[in-house]
Amino acid sequence: MFHLFQFTVEFIGVVLLADFVSGFVHWLQDAFGRPDFPITGKLFTQPNILHHQQPRYFTRHGWLKSSWDLLLINVAIMLVAFWLDRLTWHVWVFAIIGANANQIHKWAHRGPKANGRWITWLQKMRLLQTPRHHARHHTDPKNSHYCTVTNALNPLLDGIGFWEALEWCIRKGLGVKRRIDTTVRSPLRRDISSTSRLSPSRTDSTILSET
Ligand SMILES: [Zn+2]
Ligand SMILES: [Zn+2]
Repeated sequence: MFHLFQFTVEFIGVVLLADFVSGFVHWLQDAFGRPDFPITGKLFTQPNILHHQQPRYFTRHGWLKSSWDLLLINVAIMLVAFWLDRLTWHVWVFAIIGANANQIHKWAHRGPKANGRWITWLQKMRLLQTPRHHARHHTDPKNSHYCTVTNALNPLLDGIGFWEALEWCIRKGLGVKRRIDTTVRSPLRRDISSTSRLSPSRTDSTILSET
């Protein structure tokens, strides 16, 4: 009985860790990613900016196109764990969720018809992030709800001002300011010097109903 309890606690812990890491990488791209950076600019930041401009664009991509980079990173993590003789089930679970974080994110942009019965059921059971929850990330000022795997961590991290605190530390410590998101309509966030295309802000309902 104790083993089952311990397993459950550890499993939930690994899922939340994977959710947190996916959120951290997402935040890093949204806040400090630069589209002209070598390698990461083209690989991560440009698709990230496009996703804020056209949230449903990536739903037309297949699994491999959305997940190949995360797959490579997580295979590398597993290889390192194997080399260190630490390839436990925890690493497997973390890597499987990590490799599929963008797929889970994609499901949150699709309706029940496109997702099918099982994914929709997992979302309804709150075992995967729900579209309504994720839509809040795409609602101005677009600086919250960075985690994309579950609905569990975002209220906590946003509630304690975790991301703002990190940005404050980076601003004070390194003098680097958050990148302006030109898709946010607030004048405080608009960067008139940017050449990025401005697109109208979206609300929960418009994201959910968009096809
Ligand atoms: Zn984002
Ligand atoms: Zn999204």
